[in-house]
Order: sequence, then C-alpha cells, then structure tokens
Amino acid sequence: MKIERVAVIGAGTMGHGIAQVLAAAGCQVALTDVSAAAVDAALAKIAASLDRFCQKGVISDGERTATLARLRPCLELAQLSDRQLVVEAASENETIKQSIFQSLDRHCAPETILASNTSSIPLTRIAAWTQRPQQVIGMHFMNPVPLMPLVEVIRGLATSDATWQTTMDLARLAGKTPVTVHDAPGFVSNRILMPMINEAVFALHEGVATAEDIDTVMKLGMNHPMGPLALADLIGLDTCLSIMDVLYREFRDSKYRVCPLLAQKVAAGQLGKKSGQGFYTY
Ligand code: NAD
Repeated sequence: MKIERVAVIGAGTMGHGIAQVLAAAGCQVALTDVSAAAVDAALAKIAASLDRFCQKGVISDGERTATLARLRPCLELAQLSDRQLVVEAASENETIKQSIFQSLDRHCAPETILASNTSSIPLTRIAAWTQRPQQVIGMHFMNPVPLMPLVEVIRGLATSDATWQTTMDLARLAGKTPVTVHDAPGFVSNRILMPMINEAVFALHEGVATAEDIDTVMKLGMNHPMGPLALADLIGLDTCLSIMDVLYREFRDSKYRVCPLLAQKVAAGQLGKKSGQGFYTY
C-alpha cells in the first residue's frame, strides 16, 4: 500500500520532526496535539527548520513551500478517518498512549496502520489495547528527526507482514534507513545506549574521573561524536531514568539497576540541557 495520507499525534520534540520528514516525502500530514498553541508552535519550528535547509541549499524554495502546504493542524482524532497510517508521538506515558490508541482504533478506518514512536513501551502491549493488533507497529525515529537517518521498525507479536512492509517502505520514502527489530525492552538502540550512559554515570559517581574526562575517553578513544554524559544531558536525564527503569522492570536483571546519581539529578530537577543543568551547565 502506498501511503499518502498520514497523521502525527503529539507535536513535541519528536512529533514535529516526524511530521516534517513525512510532509517532505510527499505525504499529506495532519498534526495533532492537546492544544492549538502546541500545534502552531510545532508548525513554526518546522518552517524554521525548512528555512535552514533552504539557506544551506539542501532543498529548494519550491520544496519548502510544497512541504508546508502538505501540513495541516487537526485537534480531533475523530477527523482522522481518512488516514492510511498514524504515527503516535505523544508523551511517554502509558495512560496517555492507551487512551490515544483506543480512540484511534475507534475513529480510524479498519485498514489504517497505527504506529508508535515509543522509546520503551512494549509494542505487543500497545497492540493489545486495540482491536487491530496485526496493524500496530513501532516506528522509533531518532532525535533530531530531520537529521538522523535511522528508524527502528519494531514488530509486535501480532504485527502482520503487510503492516511491516508498508512501514518499511514509508521509512525509506522519508529518506531513512529502517532496521527491523523484534519487540524487546529498549529495542536495540536503548538496550545498548542506556546501560552505557548509566555506566558512565556510575564512573562519575564513584569518582573514577571527571565528567569531562569520561566524555573525552569515549570521544577520543572510541570515536564517539559525543561523550555519554553530554549525550545524556541532550536526551534528558528524566528520559534516561525512565528507560533504565523499564529495562530493569522488564528484564528483572540487576545489571540494569539505575545509578543513584542519575535518580538524584532527576529528583533535583537537573534534567540536562532542557533545564539548564545536568552533568554540565548550559
Ligand atoms: P515531548 O514532551 O516533546 O512531546 C510530547 C507531546 O505530546 C507534547 O506536545 C504533548 O502536549 C503531546 N501530548 C500529550 N498528550 C497528548 C494527547 N492525548 N494527544 C495528543 N498529544 C498529546 O516528547 P517527545 O520527546 O517528543 O517524545 C514523544 C515520544 O517519542 C515519546 O514516546 C518518547 O519516548 C519518544 N521518543 C523520544 C525521543 C527523544 O529523544 N526525545 C527519541 C525517540 C523517541
């Protein structure tokens, strides 16, 4: 199935980026959030991002205008009955996501594919909230979406081959490289990345080296573009904590126990770049 009409639920950090790449790929995109102000702010961010691509010569003026024309705000899930695929990118909260998926299941056409950008909630559980588990799949984009080439495509236990194929094709249409992952806590990306970040926090906590020196070891010694502590600040320490908690809870393995310093930082409101203070000061 060629996807031409999509919706993105949640117009935050990830949602606005996903809406942008899908509109740039030629899809008509309905963008929703809980308030009109949130959608307006997202559309302004998309326009600014397209302006930057235009100034750098990555896209033409015509492509910028056409991409913006394919985006429209929408505040009612009931208006999404003509969408072929919906990407949910609302806050990482199971209660919120459950209510969105149940509502989408009621309002969307029976053949509509429902995708989630969740970082940690098992896809099989999300699928079970709906009457169409074979049409539920994970599309885990990376931040910032317009720049990062990877999409993890996560198959739940019941996801059909047709749903998987359509989703892989859409990711490629959006200029991304999709990688198929089976439903497991943290998928591949966060299962490997988060324990590495957590271990870097343990090294800091135990006084093995300073934050700067830990990051320098990983940058110069392992060729990472960014050290794990600076990366944690960029992702958000609250997000890192919640993903470690999911890994620990789902695997029931002590190797995923969160470093106390990470939990303390979050309790103190030091969430990284977004709060101005994390392992570094911004
Ligand atoms: P965010 O807080 O920036 O945005 C979430 C948006 O969802 C907000 O604008 C909020 O108003 C909206 N929202 C909340 N309830 C809603 C509802 N009922 N209907 C519609 N919109 C609603 O969060 P984010 O960082 O964009 O994360 C969104 C999803 O993407 C999460 O599942 C997260 O785990 C995942 N994710 C995040 C990153 C990242 O680096 N930030 C990377 C990959 C995946």
